[in-house]
Amino acid sequence: MLTWAEIDVNAISHNLHQIESKVRPAGAGILAVIKDNAYGHGAVEVAKITAGVPVKMLGVAMIEEALELREAGIDLPILSLCCILPNQAEEVVRHDITQTVCELSICEALSREAIRLNKQTKVHIKIDTGMGRIGVQCDEAIQLIRNAAQLPGIAVEGISTHFAVADTDEDFTNLQLERFNSVISCLNDAGIHIPLRHAANSAAIMGLPDACFDMVRPGLMIYGLYPSEQPSEIQLKPALSLKTRIVHLKTLPAGRSVSYGRTHTTEKPSVIASLAIGYGHGYNRKLSNTGEAIIRGIKAPIVGTVCMDQCLCDVTHIPKASVGDEAVLIGRQGDEEITADEVAQKVGTISYEILCSINARVPRIYKRV
Ligand SMILES: *Cc1c(COP(=O)(O)O)cnc(C)c1O
Repeated sequence: MLTWAEIDVNAISHNLHQIESKVRPAGAGILAVIKDNAYGHGAVEVAKITAGVPVKMLGVAMIEEALELREAGIDLPILSLCCILPNQAEEVVRHDITQTVCELSICEALSREAIRLNKQTKVHIKIDTGMGRIGVQCDEAIQLIRNAAQLPGIAVEGISTHFAVADTDEDFTNLQLERFNSVISCLNDAGIHIPLRHAANSAAIMGLPDACFDMVRPGLMIYGLYPSEQPSEIQLKPALSLKTRIVHLKTLPAGRSVSYGRTHTTEKPSVIASLAIGYGHGYNRKLSNTGEAIIRGIKAPIVGTVCMDQCLCDVTHIPKASVGDEAVLIGRQGDEEITADEVAQKVGTISYEILCSINARVPRIYKRV
């Protein structure tokens, strides 16, 4: 194998346990967010790892993702976090997927299917407290919950909201929290009891204990990354390493250009390694002339433009570098480390996107050390 992502299974369990001990005092359970193939870590495998930790539910973005889990025999409750259209109601009901809803028309479609299939289906009502993405507006929430609860075949199991700036703006986050709390107290006044109230993503778990409610929804933290640079007592271990190998080595004289567009020219005689990874694996083209690899425990710069399947690396300062050597693009080797956050910074994005970009072509290898 030339290019692969190595997933440290123990790191994922460790991170889940860290989250668990952080939210335990608040009495909250965990919904493990494993959308987008568990942020590139492999949804089915991560779902299996959660079996060893008290995880209440799994969260996905697409119905197809939920079906993949069901087909793999995962029988934990699954919450579909995004909106669906009425023609997806049948699959949701048939496979016992809990659906996030913010419109009555979807509740009605789910109710029709539940009656037809002789099942009960659970919904969580999403409330827009300031994210402005999906969710019923706060002043319409109680009415929607009442209407949904009256539909046959429907159980309103949860209400939720999502924070826009939990890691960067305390005032706005508190305002969102207040709005959510006021919906909750209206429900209490109306005698409506909803068992699962949830709001906190990773950033809120880190910084906002009041947002834990009955359940928290960590994504990024499970994979060992911090949503922001705020100091934290939680110790997370990054779970994913991205690795490839040197497949060709050559010594070039000074003044020779490498790769498309001739964006790099050797200044002195240089040893240039060809690595078996490119943007077609999800190694971003913006890493051209800025990325780094670790080879034999030493960092080496990516030189020239990243191609679809290959890129080049200057290993002049690593005399022992050889064809077949492992090159680490994200992760540790020896005393050196390249974090997903560092890569993200170079690309001008966030660690989430770096992880999610590692595509299906890259085999995932699970390490249980
Ligand atoms: C993705 C997502 C999360 C997880 O967010 P992290 O920042 O990765 O913890 C939680 N809730 C919802 C609704 C999401 O879409």
